[in-house]
Amino acid sequence: MGRFEGKIGLVLGVANDRSIAWAISELLFAEGAELAFSHLPGPSSERRVKQLLEPYNPKVVVPVDVQKDEDLERLFSRVHEEYGRLDFVVHSVAFAPPTELRKPYLEVNRAGWHLAMDISAYSLVAVSRHAAAIMPAGGAIVTLTYYGGEKVVPGYNLMGVCKAALEHSVRYLAWDLGRRNIRINAISAGPVRTLSSAGISGFDEMREHTARKSCLGRNVEAKELASTALFLLSDLSSGITGEVLHVDCGFSIVGL
Ligand code: NAP
Repeated sequence: MGRFEGKIGLVLGVANDRSIAWAISELLFAEGAELAFSHLPGPSSERRVKQLLEPYNPKVVVPVDVQKDEDLERLFSRVHEEYGRLDFVVHSVAFAPPTELRKPYLEVNRAGWHLAMDISAYSLVAVSRHAAAIMPAGGAIVTLTYYGGEKVVPGYNLMGVCKAALEHSVRYLAWDLGRRNIRINAISAGPVRTLSSAGISGFDEMREHTARKSCLGRNVEAKELASTALFLLSDLSSGITGEVLHVDCGFSIVGL
């Protein structure tokens, strides 16, 4: 019997088969989880995600723009209506306008800053609030972050500031949710080639540098992020909340 048999989860952030959220979903399915999904509204996102999900035939697949409260309300009502509760959430969503992401942080405009922060950091707050309302017996939430939220990583720019806000949101949310037995943690992932990472200037150089400098002398694989997510979503990590766990082959502990 799978470790997630009888557990109901929600996954936000599957765009295609290279998405980190997809690697996590595949492992959750293999461990017996029942999963609901959201995807960005629009025919191309819908087609991509539905194709991917076809073999699993999930009951709930809802178009959601995390910037829209009404979309989030619809998503969580649908989950509640179908299952009556939620046990865990995978939040794997981020976006910044490409023009703003490529600029030095000094040059970022107000609209781009608000948009990136809204999608990449505030969405975790909104999602956690909705999720907690249908987690009567407690639950677990996992989000994805990157080292560029702690240190300056040239090229990561605006997204680094979003990740800093996301990581500290994890801590405050852990405090707000802890007495309800809801845990929330972040995985700080080493660089993995995905649709989103293609928008980061110098990404290949980041991967090459990380592989060279990390303790393990390589880059992390998506399946290693997935197995860590399953650990954080399961009772194996029952004493851990508010944590940012680096899954980066030991890159972040090296000073030079
Ligand atoms: P990805 O496959 O492109 O996933 C990002 C997801 O965010 C996509 O499903 C995208 O939908 C969704 N999204 C963007 N704007 C949205 C909105 N307004 N409403 C709802 N969904 C929205 O890339 P990924 O690399 O797996 O990224 C997942 C998470 O991991 C992100 O938080 C990212 O910052 C983080 N991360 C990635 C790496 C890496 O190296 N890849 C490293 C550390 C952390 P569409 O594609 O349909 O637009």
